[in-house]
Amino acid sequence: MALLSQFCHPFIKGENLILFHSLLFNQLTISSKDIIFSEKEGTFQITNPKNADAILQEMSQKKMLIESPEQDQVLLDSFIIQIEKPYISTAYFFLTNDCNLACKYCFEKQSVPDLFRKEIMSLSIFGRGLEFFIRLINRDPKKFAQKKTLIFYGGEPLQNKKVLFGAINKINEFKQNGLLPANTHVIVVTNGTLLKKDDIEFFAKNNITLTFSIDGNRAACSNRVFPTGQEIFDLLTEKYSLCKQAGININVACTLTPQTLENSESSLDFFIRELKISNIGFNAILDNGIIEIPDNYDQVAADFIVKAWKKLSKNNITESRMGRRLQVFNRKKPCIFDCNAQGGRQIAIAPGGEVGICHEHIADRKHFVTNISEDFVPEENPVFLEWMNRSPLNIKKCQACPALGLCGGGCVINTENTHQTIWEPDVRFCTQTLTILKFLLSNSPSKDFFLLSGNQ
Ligand code: SF4
Ligand code: SF4
Repeated sequence: MALLSQFCHPFIKGENLILFHSLLFNQLTISSKDIIFSEKEGTFQITNPKNADAILQEMSQKKMLIESPEQDQVLLDSFIIQIEKPYISTAYFFLTNDCNLACKYCFEKQSVPDLFRKEIMSLSIFGRGLEFFIRLINRDPKKFAQKKTLIFYGGEPLQNKKVLFGAINKINEFKQNGLLPANTHVIVVTNGTLLKKDDIEFFAKNNITLTFSIDGNRAACSNRVFPTGQEIFDLLTEKYSLCKQAGININVACTLTPQTLENSESSLDFFIRELKISNIGFNAILDNGIIEIPDNYDQVAADFIVKAWKKLSKNNITESRMGRRLQVFNRKKPCIFDCNAQGGRQIAIAPGGEVGICHEHIADRKHFVTNISEDFVPEENPVFLEWMNRSPLNIKKCQACPALGLCGGGCVINTENTHQTIWEPDVRFCTQTLTILKFLLSNSPSKDFFLLSGNQ
């Protein structure tokens, strides 16, 4: 007798059940009167004999029925073998850990204020860091021409303006002489407050993308302050408008603070009508204990992401978090990783030249495993090798989750902060991904739509 695949998950939608295959993205809608699922056993029973043959045939065709559990394992393995050895395509450069602001939720400044010591990257360290990156991207010549991303980060990178401009000139030179691929994308992540007219002209001329951190309207941005406590909102929006007028490609990075969620409608209107944004990415607050987060934060943030996407897309604005999930859902192939640190595909270079896998641990240098003087081989490094495999496909709890193929695995650092291991689901991200999956399956999330069985 055929068995129910472990990847087949029933969702209740009013009078119907939607069966969803979490790896192949196949769907089947069946009347709830025709079938009963046992949550515990992972079994089902067809209760309407008249439709039994048709239901079984459809379920088989959609691989929701299997002959033996090994069949599920073979399918899972066919995706796991697609995980490739680490190949670096993204580099973060910390031009300084110093920032001219004192945002209330900033991990770098708030977590270790006593240990904080200002560090600035020199142009020489930048140059050696870039050469280190170039050595890494040449490790697989077949991948050299693929898109690369260089991100200037901080602190506030404009606190080290001379090196930032020198670095961009060097990147241009290396692109021209073929040492970097022509499609190397350069991003500066900035709070915007230090931008002067000349800087804006320089960025526009050099086709630099600016990522502005903006958490919403004035009330939502109340955590963004100067060390004096004065809010940056007016200055930030003024600089944003100047960049927009100059034709700079701008991304907005919006941290979903409790204040953003309290002011969600007015913040969305502000982004659409006043800032006239074209791209935005919503980031949930990491579990770093810096600011107090309400108990229902995860679900409220997840619901906001779906609601915001609907409104933004009607206004031709892309949102990267939901956008990535939609792409995966439409292309019907599992997403193995959702961030570049997973898979061991990025490096972060500290002002002194130490090199880590993720920019988030710059303060304590956790997962900083080498430095720019060394002949580093990512595929021989234990951290890069462990993160290479850190896909939901390889996590037991994720294998039983309806969002297994949609997910990509969330944030490794957030997982580690919560569980002291990277081999657990990122719970905050789970709420988001499952909310998005339910929305995609139902197309109209409602109270009567929920998951019948599974581990969530
Ligand atoms: S591990 Fe988390 S913080 Fe690091 S790159 Fe991935 S998503 Fe970003
Ligand atoms: S991280 Fe969460 S949402 Fe993603 S597959 Fe794992 S359990 Fe599911």
